[in-house]
Order: sequence, then C-alpha cells, then structure tokens
Amino acid sequence: MASDSFSSLSISRAQVANLDSLGYLKMTAIQVQSLPSVLAGKDVIAQAKTGSGKTATFGIGLLEKINSRFFGAQALILCPTRELADQVGKEIRKLARCTPNIKVVILCGGKPFQFQRASLEHGAHIIVGTPGRIQDHLNRETLNLNGLNTLVLDEADRMLDMGFSEVINEIIEQTPKSRQTLLFSATYPDSIRQMCHAILNDPVMVSVESEHRANIIEQVFYKVPEYDRNDILLALFEHFQPETSVVFCHTKKQCDEVAHFLEGHNIEALAIHGDLEQRDRDQVLIRFANKSCSVLVATDVAARGLDIKSLSAVINYELPRDPEIFIHRIGRTGRAGEQGIALSLFTQAENMRVKAIEEYQDKACNIENVNSLNRDAKFSVHPVMATMQIDVGRKNKIRPGDILGALTGDAGLSASQIGKIDIFDIASYIAIDRKALRKVLGYFANGKIKGRLVRARMIS
Ligand code: AMP
Repeated sequence: MASDSFSSLSISRAQVANLDSLGYLKMTAIQVQSLPSVLAGKDVIAQAKTGSGKTATFGIGLLEKINSRFFGAQALILCPTRELADQVGKEIRKLARCTPNIKVVILCGGKPFQFQRASLEHGAHIIVGTPGRIQDHLNRETLNLNGLNTLVLDEADRMLDMGFSEVINEIIEQTPKSRQTLLFSATYPDSIRQMCHAILNDPVMVSVESEHRANIIEQVFYKVPEYDRNDILLALFEHFQPETSVVFCHTKKQCDEVAHFLEGHNIEALAIHGDLEQRDRDQVLIRFANKSCSVLVATDVAARGLDIKSLSAVINYELPRDPEIFIHRIGRTGRAGEQGIALSLFTQAENMRVKAIEEYQDKACNIENVNSLNRDAKFSVHPVMATMQIDVGRKNKIRPGDILGALTGDAGLSASQIGKIDIFDIASYIAIDRKALRKVLGYFANGKIKGRLVRARMIS
C-alpha cells in the first residue's frame, strides 16, 4: 500500500512542516492516490468531492512549481462560485506559508474590477477565480496566461452545469499547450469525459469512493405529516442539539419561512438564498463561518462552496428528488474524518425520494419514529459570538495581527474573547464574544487601529 505520510512525497521539508502545523498529519485518500502523479507533472482527472482534501491535492502540487522571482501568473484555478474561489484562495495561502513572497489573487465577479486590475499589476503568481471574471480580465488584457504552468478546474461538473463550458474553452486557448492540467469533479458524466478528452494530455485517472465518508455520517430519516414538518424540525434541534447546522430547503420562500419559524422558537437562524444581495450573502456566510450564527437555512444553490469546517448536522427539511444532491448535501457534515449526522424529514408523498436514495447508496435508509425524539423544550440556540464590522481592510494594509493587537492591548480584551477575523479589501469582520461587546464598542468610540480612527458597527 502507498504511504500516507507527506514526507514520502517529493515536496520541500518546509512544506511538510507547514502541513504538520496545519494539522495535516497524514494524507487523505485522494492525496495518496493523486499527489505522486501531480508532483510528477502529469495531467490528472480526480473524481473527488468537497471534503476529500482535494484543494490541498492541487495546492501542494502547483506550489512546488512556482518561481517566486517571476511575477507572472503561473497557476490558474477555475472555480464555479465565488464562495468556492474564496475558500480555495484561503487554503492555497495557508499552504503557501512556507514559501516566502507568493502572491495569490482571487478574481471573481461582484467585486470591483479596478482593484483586481491593480492587484494584477503588482504581479501575481497564483490566480483563483470564476470563469466569467477571468475571461473579462483576459479580454481587457489585464491578465496574461503565457507563463502558466498549472491549470486546475475545480468542481468541473458544476462549472459545466452552470453553462461555463464555452468560456472555459476560450480561457484554455490562451494558456500554453505545455501546461499541466488537473481536473477535479464530483461526478463524471459524458460532458466531463468529452471535456477531459479535449483538454488533458494522457491523464491519470483517480477516483475516491465517497463511501468511507458516507460511513462516518450517521443518517436518520423521519416520516412526518406535511403539517408537522416545522414541529418535528424543532424536535430534531431539541433532541440532537447540534452546535452548527445547515437546514436545506427546496425554495427561497421555504428558507425564509423556516428561518422565521426557528427564530420564533428561540433558535437564531439565518436564511441564505439567491435573492439576497451579494453583500448580505457575504455577511451571512461570514457570520456562519465565525460562529456568530450557528444555524443556516439554505437552498442547494446558495450553499454551494460554503466554507464550513466540520458541520455537526445537516438537516433536510425536504428531500431532494435527485439522490446525488442528497449525497452532496450530507457530505458537508463529517468532513475530514469527523463524525457528522444527517437528519432528513420526508412525507408520504416523498417516499419515492427515499427509495431513490436507498438505491443510490445501495442500502436501506434508517427510518426512525418521531416519538423516539427526546424533546427538551428549554433548548435554545444563541451563539456566543457576535460579528463586528470595521471600515478598514486589506487596502489599508490591515492584518489580523493589527486588529488582535488593538483589541487585546488598548481595548483590554483577552485573546480568547476574539474569534475569526476576516479581512476584505475595504472592510474587516471580527467575531467577538458577546460578553465583551460593550467593551469593544466603547473602545471604538475613539480607539484606533494602526494609528487610524476606525468606524465599527455590529452586524449581528
Ligand atoms: P477540501 O476537500 O479541499 O474542501 O478539504 C476539506 C478539509 O480537509 C479542509 O478543511 C482541509 O483543510 C482539510 N484537509 C485537507 N487535507 C487534509 C489532511 N491531509 N489532513 C487533515 N485535514 C485535511
């Protein structure tokens, strides 16, 4: 059996130490199977899903080839959504910590073009982005791919589903033929097969069964009368008391109604769907990721590319018709070897959907009686953290350490009262223990960060 130790690979010792510091002690299955080929410079088609460790697979590979002294784009990673691009960009930055002076630029729609152009003008080694915006930069000649070594197509099946096929081909035409191409896809339909044939050169195929992950996700189904869906949903929260969860709904309206219902029953929840403005959507995702909101009610489209580590529970308020969507939804819990639980409600009319899932997984679904749920009516969900927004960010050369320094120094907070800090171009978001909020707001009435007065406001 191939070794699962990172030190068995031909990567720098500094990278092995960096991976160790990230808690990546041994390779995941996809890494064992594909990293040797990726590092040998071969084209690879990897059938692997989010949660398998695929980002590190291509990230480690492409970083080994980056020449930090050459300031042109050497690696391009195409992603279907902004959220996924952000998530991939963050992971690559972590993996690049051991190599000084590597610049990663994220190019997605919905962000001002001129900022992106300015970033590119300063030179960027690795580009992560969505196809539309990358094509825009190529058309306006603000991005040049002549020096590209590695092209990665992440979640290629989703990009094709979203109609990006032609744009992707146009982008590829502007890359050198000598490039290494790595394609990651959760599924392998004919459209992907054809694409692979056209753009990869003698590829190595790797497939990781999602089975081992499905096994550590406990799946429980509950048959409910339609009129009782909300009440049983509440019972699931009371019984399982998940620390973080996503409730999947079918429609935007259903998302709003369910979030409203939960709010009315002492469970703070945020709805996320396509009708939200991009800014509101970003804020919901930030609040969820920094633990100042612990229940998200989402449609499948809105949940794509969510940056969530180890979600305790996925709840299907209604089952999807397509079993593959079900597998994709529940794959968001139990990531990277952690235990997760997937809870599903279905009505008599949705029996066929349960049957389809049984056939897809080739095993019977575990259907439990709702009476087995132990209800704790006193249970409530109020996150311990809250999110504060300040009006300075990357453009003001603010780093997490500056914020941490001001809050633990002048404002008098302890480090444990400060959670995740997200720095954007012109704003930053800080998760703060609710008990320390008053102190922080008081501080910002006159307080400074890096010698500059900043405006702060609560967004949750
Ligand atoms: P991905 O499939 O790229 O979305 O990765 C899923 C999660 O697994 C991410 O949070 C990674 O940080 C984490 N991860 C990736 N590789 C490893 C590893 N070898 N050991 C532990 N965690 C990992």
